Amino acid sequence: MRKDFWKNIPVELLTNEEWEAICDGCGKCCLIKLQNNAQSIPFYTSLACQFLNTKTCKCKVYNSRKKKKHDCLILTPDNLKQVVKWLPNSCAYRLVNEKKDLPNWHHLNSKDCDSVHITGNSIQNLAINELFVAEEDYENFIAES
Ligand code: SF4
Ligand code: SF4
Repeated sequence: MRKDFWKNIPVELLTNEEWEAICDGCGKCCLIKLQNNAQSIPFYTSLACQFLNTKTCKCKVYNSRKKKKHDCLILTPDNLKQVVKWLPNSCAYRLVNEKKDLPNWHHLNSKDCDSVHITGNSIQNLAINELFVAEEDYENFIAES
């Protein structure tokens, strides 16, 4: 990966490895989101997609995620601008899109993939599997992004 690529290189010109490395591994984008109407900003809940491992914050079906969960959003350099409103405020892709630097705890700065968890910036052990809650009760789990 090229030095400081997330600061200097437009996302369309990143290699696949560089693009994937921007993800901080927080797991927040896999929380269930609610929306009042198609135009409104989504509310995040503390409920996680059934396929998220809530201990590691990794997707259990990553390679077949779109097949397993039809509304799973697959982020690409091409759709980033369109879907950015669905990403949490701390999301590294959102920060790169806004031309902001990544935080110190991001693994590209800290060189430690666990620092997102150690510093409390992930949802590790905080989210509840969506299957444990009835859909009509989702709004009782609205949280901040
Ligand atoms: S919110 Fe962004 S940085 Fe965090 S896991 Fe999802 S895509 Fe990666
Ligand atoms: S299927 Fe999609 S939303 Fe669910 S855990 Fe995997 S990546 Fe996240």
